[in-house]
Order: sequence, then structure tokens, then C-alpha cells
Amino acid sequence: MIQLQHIKKTYQMGAVQVQALSDVSLSIGRGEFVAIMGASGSGKSTLLHILGLLDKPDSGSYSIGGEEVSVFKDRELAVLRNTLAGFVFQQFHLLSRVTALENVELPLVYAGKRKLKEKALKRLEEVGLGPRMKHRPNELSGGEQQRVAIARALVNDPLVLFADEPTGNLDSKTEEEIIKVLESLNRQGITIIMVTHEKEVAVRARRIITMRDGKILSDETVKHGPSNSPTAENAVSVGSLMKEIRSSGMGAHFFDHCRQALHAIFSHKLRSFLSMLGITIGVTAVIAMLALGEGAKESISQRLASLGSNLLSVSPGSRRLHGVAMEAGAVTRFTLQDSEALLKLPQVKRTSCSVRGRGQMVYKNKNWNTTVQGNESSYAAMRASVPKIGRFFTDEEVRSRAKVVVLGATVVNNLFENENPLGRDVKINRINFKVIGILPEKGSGGWRDQDDVVVIPITTAMYRLLGKEYVDSIDVEIKDSNLMEEAQKAMRDVIRKRAHLAKDAEDNFEIRNMAEIQETLESTTTTMTLLLGFIAAISLLVGGIGIMNIMLVSVTERTKEIGLRKAIGAGSGDLLIQFLIEAVMMTVLGGCIGIAFGWGIAKSLSLIAGWATKVSLQSVLVSTSFSILIGVVFGVWPARQASRMNPVEALRYE
Ligand code: ADP
Ligand code: MG
Repeated sequence: MIQLQHIKKTYQMGAVQVQALSDVSLSIGRGEFVAIMGASGSGKSTLLHILGLLDKPDSGSYSIGGEEVSVFKDRELAVLRNTLAGFVFQQFHLLSRVTALENVELPLVYAGKRKLKEKALKRLEEVGLGPRMKHRPNELSGGEQQRVAIARALVNDPLVLFADEPTGNLDSKTEEEIIKVLESLNRQGITIIMVTHEKEVAVRARRIITMRDGKILSDETVKHGPSNSPTAENAVSVGSLMKEIRSSGMGAHFFDHCRQALHAIFSHKLRSFLSMLGITIGVTAVIAMLALGEGAKESISQRLASLGSNLLSVSPGSRRLHGVAMEAGAVTRFTLQDSEALLKLPQVKRTSCSVRGRGQMVYKNKNWNTTVQGNESSYAAMRASVPKIGRFFTDEEVRSRAKVVVLGATVVNNLFENENPLGRDVKINRINFKVIGILPEKGSGGWRDQDDVVVIPITTAMYRLLGKEYVDSIDVEIKDSNLMEEAQKAMRDVIRKRAHLAKDAEDNFEIRNMAEIQETLESTTTTMTLLLGFIAAISLLVGGIGIMNIMLVSVTERTKEIGLRKAIGAGSGDLLIQFLIEAVMMTVLGGCIGIAFGWGIAKSLSLIAGWATKVSLQSVLVSTSFSILIGVVFGVWPARQASRMNPVEALRYE
């Protein structure tokens, strides 16, 4: 069944070349029980590793059942290790964090046959460890651990059992137990190839091969008697097995990978938690910061919507240098007549002058100091201020300097408790006004409360209340947004003419376009959101690097485990997926916690500090997919490291 021809294996140790195997030719048949003996360093383990497909020879040919092994691909080798061979090591090599039963199940997992769980239990019972299946390796004696390892080697019904000094770490009584198990397995037809350096152990085999310095010294059959013919169960030909292997898409199921990954995460709780923390903080930052940015943007655009559209605002103001007026006293002041002149322009739809001042409001025993704004009646329509309750003042009331007032919501709240303010008399700076309406709420946008205001007719404000001769600004609504520039130019000419400005004189007034202000504000908040998001993304990146770091450490730390998994038939793909899933699970878990935290922070900011925040679905999706991406990107490198390892070297790793 097994045929070795002129096998050579050389190890390079610095400048020295060690010939571990030099020209070994060997043939082993079905059902044999072979012991390989020899002094330490004679190449026994090397030979066994090559036989067991854990290592590749430098030259020579190796065939199993007539199939040349050297042409097999990585995947096929993994499958062969899983189904054809079972391995028992001197150091047992059990996974320390899982139970005996789960250790035995492992080859089934990689064969994609975990549903055959009872088989693992059966094998465990066969080696006499049924009652201890829930125990972990550190709760088992050396002999028991080795029996678990044998059960694991047998669980996939291998044709050959390879044992490298299976009794080397055991006392003589346990040694006897193990040998008995091997003998009985051989009687069932399983081929056994065992390395040992003890004569007493070797004589229990049927054939003893002695090695020295990488060569076979002698090869003798010690027991004749009836050779163990393979039982029907084990009589499958290697050829048909190979065919089956090639056709089957063997490999562990996704669910099993997830189980393994979860297990790995939970067996290092603190470490996993700490590495997740990076992602959690990153995602928290992203969610909270984007929520702030979004909230700011939304409250600004809400506020801007109440400004009205196609508006130009004319206000006095000279050319300024670093905030200092250049020519004091040379500012153009505006009057109601200026507003009327502007209204005559063909592009202008309507105008509204306004003046502002402070006013002390009194109603019954309540006092409130607020902004008093004098406006024309067109203000309501131009600045989205048509009252929902009551009404705005009319042109007639403006002309007659009527003492009527429209209140902002904040003023209403502070002066009137449960009373309806409509029709009541309030005092503003000791003058009686009648409340005729309540302004629609505009919200408090950042720097000032837009509802803390009262509006009265501009004439009343100028001549009765504030004693002003000039208006503070004129709002001009243009008929069409395409006419804005043209209108601006026309208005400038009208104003310059009325102010008698010399041709070469600078403008000493300002015409501002509200749409431009709007755009500036919006782009500012967008920039702010982007900047915040960028900072947050950096912390996510740092978190990702943290995960990569932990994964790399974990790969190094678990090198032996990786070697073992490979030895019992895990393919490179299996390990790649397993480590990748582990990384992705950590990032996703960390990301979900981060989303919850970020949302919580955003909510408490708006509850406690009163900041406008808005957690958008978009930011949740972005940070979720970003953390998955980080898991994949930063998991791939360690996962590749893990999957590429040579099983023997990984097992030997200290
Ligand atoms: P043993 O018969 O004791 O099992 P081995 O097969 O383990 O011997 O080793 C045979 C020789 O090859 C020894 O001289 C050992 O030092 C050398 N050797 C084995 N593995 C390696 C390795 N990975 N790197 C370098 N030398 C090795
Ligand atoms: Mg050895």
C-alpha cells in the first residue's frame, strides 16, 4: 500500500546541512504493525512525518495505493490527512481549551461530518474514556490524554495510524495500556506505523525497522502468525478513496467555523475585549460625530428655510478693514423712502424694512426683556412668519402706527401661563400694546433663540417706541432667482444715486444675498461633518490595527494549534476562513457595541446639552460595513500567515 523510493530529506542548520533521511526505500502493506526504532536523531520522526503527509521529501518518490503523493495539491493532502491517516504524537497535542469529546470531534469537523458526533463518543468509549468526555485535557492524566489523541486519530476510520513515540511521555503501566489499544486496533485491520526507541515496545509489533543516521539499518519481521487481513469495513481500496476525495467538496461547514471562532474569542475574553475596544471607540466616535454634524446641518437648514427665498438684504455699512470702519460717519442710512424707491424696480417683488431694539415687556405681574422688531406687513410672507394663531398686522395698521404686537413663542411662555394671549394688553417700555397674533416657532438655533422676539409695525417702533429716524435694514424679495444679480446691480445704482455718492466713492452700504449666506453655512457644516467623520475614521483605523495586532499575536501563540489542525486535516482554506471569521466577529461585535454607545452619546448630548443631533441610518450602515471591512482587511494578513504554515514546523514551534 505504501511505497517509498530513494527518499531524501536534508535540513539546513545555518551553515551545516543535516541529512535527516538519506536514500530511504521502504514498502509497507495493508494491516501491518510496524515499529521504527533507532537512536535519537536517526531520522525516525522525519520518516514518519513524510509517511503521514505532514512533510515533503526533498527528492524520491512516495506513493499510496499506487498514487504518487508529490503531485497532490494542498487541498488534497489535507483531505488525505483527514481521512486516510490518523496521527498520534508523543506530546499528545490536544486543544487545551475544549473538552475531550470536542477534541475527538475535530477531524469530523474538518471532514464536514460533525453530524456524526456519536462516532466521536463511540471512539472515546472504545479507548475507555466515555465517562470523562466532558473533561478538558488538563483534567486528564498523560495516559488518558494519549488515549483521547488515539480516539481522535481513529474517528475518521483511517487506513493507517501513525504514532510518534506514543508512549514516550508515559510510565510503564500506562505504556502497556496504550500498546494494548494499538494491538487491538491492528487486529481490526488498521495499519499501524509506530516510532519508538524502546525495545519492549518495539517487540510488540510484527515488523521492526531500525534506523541510523537517516538510513535503514535493518528490517525484520518478528512475529509471523496470521497477518491481519483487513476487515470488510476497512477494505476500501486507496484508489477508490482517492476518487471519492477528488469528487467531494470536503471541508468544514461555515457554522462550524463560526463555532470555532466564537470559542477562540471567548477563551481569551479580556484580550478579545481589549482589541474590540479599539473598534468600539472608533465606531462610537463615528456615530456620535456624524450625528452631531447631521444635527447641526439639519437645524441650520431649518433655520434657513424660515429666512425665505430670493431675498437680498440691504444694510448700512462702510468698507471695513479688520473690523474697523475706514471713514467714520460716511455710512449711508436708510429710510422708509429708500424702501419705496427700491420697490419701484421691475425685478423687485416686495420689500420690508426693519428696525430692532430691546423692550421690557410687562403683563400683569410678569416681566420679560426681549428683542423688539419693527417691520412692515410684508415681513410675514417674506420671512415665513405668518402667524398660525391670530394674525399679522396690516398695511393700514402700519400707516396708522397702531399699537399692536405679534409675540414669539418664548415671550408667550414667559408672560402668559395658561392664558390665551390673543386680545390681551401688554406693556412694552410702558406703552400699551394689543396682542394680535403669535409667530410660528422657529427653534433655537445655536447662538440665539429665534422665538425670543416681538414684532410690531415699523412706524410704531420708529416713532413711538424706539425713537429711531432710520431703518436698520431693508429686506428685498426678488421676483425670480435668475434675476438676483441683475436686481443687485439695479439696487446698487438706485441707492448710490439716492445717497449722492461720487462716482469713484466706495459703496458705504451692503447688499447681501441670503442664498449665498445659506450656501456658505451649508458648506461649512458639510466641511465640519466631514472633518469630524475623518477624525473618527482615523480612530476606527487605529482600532483595526489593534485587531490586526491581536490576531497576529494570536496566530503566533496558536502556531502549535494550527499545526495540529493541519495535521488532522484542516486545509489552508479552513484555517484562513476560521481566522478571518474570528477577526470579523470581533470587529462586528465591537462595531455593534460602538453603534449603541454612539447612539447613546448622541441622545444624551441632545437631552443634556440641548445640541441638535441626528443618528442617520447611513452612518450606522457605513460604520457597520466599515468595521466588517476592517475585520476582513486586518484579518486577512494574520489568517494567511496561519494558513500557510507547514504542519510539522508549526507543531514544532515553541
Ligand atoms: P528522531 O529519530 O529523533 O525522531 P528526527 O527525525 O527528529 O530524529 O531528526 C533527524 C535529524 O534531523 C536530527 O539530526 C535533527 O536534528 C534533524 N532535524 C529534524 N528536524 C529538523 C528541523 N526542522 N530543522 C533542522 N534539523 C532538523
Ligand atoms: Mg523523534
